[in-house]
Amino acid sequence: MSTVLAQAGALPAAIAVPHEGELTRRAHAEPPHAYRTPFARDGARVLHARAFRRLAGKTQVFTQAPEGKPGDHFRSRLTHTLEVAQIARTLATSLGLNVELTETLALVHDIGHPPFGHAGETALDRALAPFSLSFDHNLHALRIVTWFEERYPAFRGLNLTLGVREGIIKHSRDYALEAHPELAGYFLDRRPPLEAQLIDLADEIAYLTADIEDGLDSGILALDAVHAGVPLFRGFHDEARAKFPHATPRVLAGEATRRMLNALVTDLLAEVRRRVDAAGIATLDDVRRSPERLAAFSPAMEAERKTAKRFLYANLYNSPDLEETRAHAVRIVENLFAEFVANPNLLPEDHREQIASQGLARTVTDYIAGMTDSFIEQAWTRISPRAS
Ligand code: MG
Repeated sequence: MSTVLAQAGALPAAIAVPHEGELTRRAHAEPPHAYRTPFARDGARVLHARAFRRLAGKTQVFTQAPEGKPGDHFRSRLTHTLEVAQIARTLATSLGLNVELTETLALVHDIGHPPFGHAGETALDRALAPFSLSFDHNLHALRIVTWFEERYPAFRGLNLTLGVREGIIKHSRDYALEAHPELAGYFLDRRPPLEAQLIDLADEIAYLTADIEDGLDSGILALDAVHAGVPLFRGFHDEARAKFPHATPRVLAGEATRRMLNALVTDLLAEVRRRVDAAGIATLDDVRRSPERLAAFSPAMEAERKTAKRFLYANLYNSPDLEETRAHAVRIVENLFAEFVANPNLLPEDHREQIASQGLARTVTDYIAGMTDSFIEQAWTRISPRAS
């Protein structure tokens, strides 16, 4: 039945990235696998990478509720990633796109995130500025899969296809060639395929709904505040409460976010079809030459999305409840970075060996960015007595 449903809403077949040709090219040529497509292979390579496993120990919004309130069910970067993959797979299947490429891009989309979520990323970027370098999680993800992971005797990195590497860079933003000459070869003057364009929106759908749920569950967000501040949630919450008057508050909130997720996905699918149709897009090349991205919400849903996102920034991500956690994260990343730069001998030997070719600041960044939240805490506990 799902095949029939997918076919009914599928875009023209020539829009999907094919399982052969230019985008399946790898930096180091490899013979094709007997029964797996190139993008399915890439998905497996990502899934088996050390950087992927470490997502389990990295913060999404928080790993514990503030004030030590117990809770072992909050999203980590890993479970967030799996939720993005689920949504992305639904989108690609329904649109008749390359599902294996889409799912692989979802699995890899957060692999470049350092410990401590956004606070960690900002702190690393600031630490690199005096070296005329910067930290960007998309470019760091590319670095991980092209160089940092060491698993295969024949090459460094995961030797992923061009299509996956392009999607890693371009799934959430466009980079200008003038500012990033090293990215020549990734079609910077063209839009990415729809498979990559969908990832950023699948990511938004996943975290907007999940963060409302985790925010409520942690006690940082009050139900009244979400109800008042997020109209999309309010509509579905009222609907659910009228239909299930005896359901518990937690189940009702879950039902509201579930309906929200479904509405966002449904709107996105309809808007992509509408835009493709309106622009007369029939091939992958048309997608690439389109003046703007084709994956988007309708204007009405885009307004809802912005309101929900603004609400989460004001009341969750930048909430005073998490201020201490953020300050702690920045302090550890900055101090550890400075300590490793001053004393490179504190780095493990396999990292120290990279200094000659990669430079000290980038080598320290690679090491710190790879750490989980608990690993960086332990590293700081070990090293901080020397720094004081
Ligand atoms: Mg994400």
